[in-house]
Amino acid sequence: MATIQCKCSSVRIDFPANKELFRHECCCHDCISALWYATERGGPEYPHNLCADCCWLPNDFRIMTGEEKLGAFMNYESADTTRFYCKACWTVLFGDHPFYEKRILVSQVAAYKEFEGLTNVVRMEPQARHFLKDLNAEQIAALPPWPGDPSHVYRGAAENLLAHFPRMKAAGGEGIEMNAQILLDKVGGAFVPTDEARLSTGPPSLRRQVAGRAGESD
Ligand SMILES: [Zn+2]
Ligand SMILES: [Zn+2]
Repeated sequence: MATIQCKCSSVRIDFPANKELFRHECCCHDCISALWYATERGGPEYPHNLCADCCWLPNDFRIMTGEEKLGAFMNYESADTTRFYCKACWTVLFGDHPFYEKRILVSQVAAYKEFEGLTNVVRMEPQARHFLKDLNAEQIAALPPWPGDPSHVYRGAAENLLAHFPRMKAAGGEGIEMNAQILLDKVGGAFVPTDEARLSTGPPSLRRQVAGRAGESD
């Protein structure tokens, strides 16, 4: 069973699944700036190489410890992603997105290098690296080498991730006693920080990218 823990070990979340549904690396402004924001608030160091290891799991889990420490935030009003975090240590634990249709969720806790936040899960090789368009040339040059198929590095949303969403959702699940939506209610909804312009001044998000993909040259 996959386990997600925060840096201070207050929060432990167990998933019945022991295999991830997909793995890739996200360089998008939304993810990196959310992780950066949490670091600014005292959280563990965000991935300075600007690509976050993403693990998709079914939306079905149990909060073993630290439920009272959990909170949620969105980068800005009507942002795509709701991110759940530990209020004690500002570890960003996992996120929900409208594309997931309550069947899956994504954790970037493995992107943190100073503690092991993701355990007990069989991981696959990263299947893609996406949203390089959110980085400048210097930042792209500084990324770790991509070990996989070069065609799986994407300037925008990863085609192979989008193609896998139906399979991931079918293999996912919606927890009856606990899932991201129930948790969001329990924590009183997501707050929207107003103290960091970086969160809301980025390039278009995944949803807007995909909506605008028609006519795009890459
Ligand atoms: Zn914590
Ligand atoms: Zn992202």
